Amino acid sequence: MSIIRLDKYLADCGIGTRSQVKKILKNGLVTINDIKVSKADTKVNTESDKVMVGHDNIIYKKYEYYMLNKPSGYVSARTDNLYPTVLSLLDGAKHKELSPVGRLDVDTEGLLLITNDGQTTHNLLAPNKHVDKTYYVELDMPIPDLLIEEFKKGIDIGENKPTKPAKLNILDNKATCELTISEGKFHQVKRMFAHFGLKVIYLKRLSMGNIKLDANLKIGEYRALTDEEIDALLKN
Ligand code: URA
Repeated sequence: MSIIRLDKYLADCGIGTRSQVKKILKNGLVTINDIKVSKADTKVNTESDKVMVGHDNIIYKKYEYYMLNKPSGYVSARTDNLYPTVLSLLDGAKHKELSPVGRLDVDTEGLLLITNDGQTTHNLLAPNKHVDKTYYVELDMPIPDLLIEEFKKGIDIGENKPTKPAKLNILDNKATCELTISEGKFHQVKRMFAHFGLKVIYLKRLSMGNIKLDANLKIGEYRALTDEEIDALLKN
């Protein structure tokens, strides 16, 4: 059970900023359990109280979870001086405290999870959790077969330890592959290939843990995770 102020409840539900919410309250549009309320500091039980704005029942969801098909040219951060942020693509998202779950490089595309659930973000990113991430990769030249074994063994990319075993699946034309890694070191995929003199020319994340990029999402589009996906994510 969680008890919070009415203005926070409404702001968290995307009804408006705290000052917009105050106006809505003043205008007598809000009821709790069918009783009109106008005080911003009225306490609300997020589980049992029925909050209405006009004719709309406003159900509180503490956490929001989205998947974005990240385009190139957007930075995985809350703010940036140079590039637009991935959050600027989530125009319909309600909560203010959303953050991307980890980082994709500015030129990387594909699956980026975005949430305000800090604990789950931590669980997905913690180095000891080894959450698998699968990437589709295009290289500037054919990938030698011996890399399959090398990637499995681990590669010295200049960190304290070699990379954890990674699964390399070379695709038919030989210069493309799917690669699954269980870490998230800075530029890791690019550095793993660079170690063998190969340059990544296109990189797209296909999955993170048990969440797969929705093939119907066009580049730059996002959607809320389904209840099944949220359950799966929390189990990661
Ligand atoms: N590895 C990279 O090199 N870049 C990414 O964006 C993700 C993984």
